[in-house]
Amino acid sequence: MPEPLANPVVIRVTNLTRTYRIGSERVEALRGVSLEVCKNEYVAVMGHSGSGKSTLMNLLGCLDKADAGLYHLNGINTTRMNASGLANVRNREIGFVFQSFELLPRVSALKNVELPLIYSKVPFWSRRKLAQQALQRVGLADRMHHKPNQLSGGEKQRVAVARALVGAPSILLADEPTGNLDSKTSESIMQLFEQLYAEGQTIIMVTHEVDIAAHARRIVRMRDGQIYSDLPAEQDPDCLRFKPAELRPEQTEQSS
Ligand code: ADP
Ligand code: MG
Repeated sequence: MPEPLANPVVIRVTNLTRTYRIGSERVEALRGVSLEVCKNEYVAVMGHSGSGKSTLMNLLGCLDKADAGLYHLNGINTTRMNASGLANVRNREIGFVFQSFELLPRVSALKNVELPLIYSKVPFWSRRKLAQQALQRVGLADRMHHKPNQLSGGEKQRVAVARALVGAPSILLADEPTGNLDSKTSESIMQLFEQLYAEGQTIIMVTHEVDIAAHARRIVRMRDGQIYSDLPAEQDPDCLRFKPAELRPEQTEQSS
């Protein structure tokens, strides 16, 4: 039997660096990060506050530019693109979910989800239909006309996920998506991610909570602007505790 073909590489970053300058101060937020992510991977990026996770996500999401290094997204070399080139790629390829939802407060869930399609000039009726389908996909068919202040935190994050997915992006990036949610709601958002992953979505999620990260299939750990560990979740000792028993190695009985 021939070897099954590996999924295509969606993200390839090589030796990315990003230094912030405030006055005379320099913060080396990323110090040479290399990473490859294939289609339909589910990656959690972990690390202490200040380790560079959001900086990396912003670069992957084409919200920011590296000082040096290469970034290929879905085969497109973004390295030398200007702001409008990056905005185009971002619109086509990236769905972003933030800790604080970032919804427009005065308009309905439906309008919020339509917004990216307005930017990409999708005509009104197709836009409406796609936004309705995206809201159905995240379980909010009955909340489409609610405004953000009429929705719970978990529902707001579902709207944000629908907005991220409505343009069928090649990658879903989520920076601490459960950071503002209680544990039960967090779990339901993780169930939603699980469903999206099963449907073939590629996901990269930042979290510092092990029980959240344990939902991913691959754990990337950062420290001081660098990746120091990159393992399948079932080999990550912390995450293993939250995996189903059949994935855990045999426990040896200890008499204490
Ligand atoms: P994390 O998401 O892991 O908490 P960040 O990527 O936000 O880390 O930050 C990495 C480092 O860069 C931190 O030292 C932080 O203070 C600094 N930093 C992040 N964003 C900026 C910015 N816009 N201007 C200056 N320094 C920044
Ligand atoms: Mg952060």
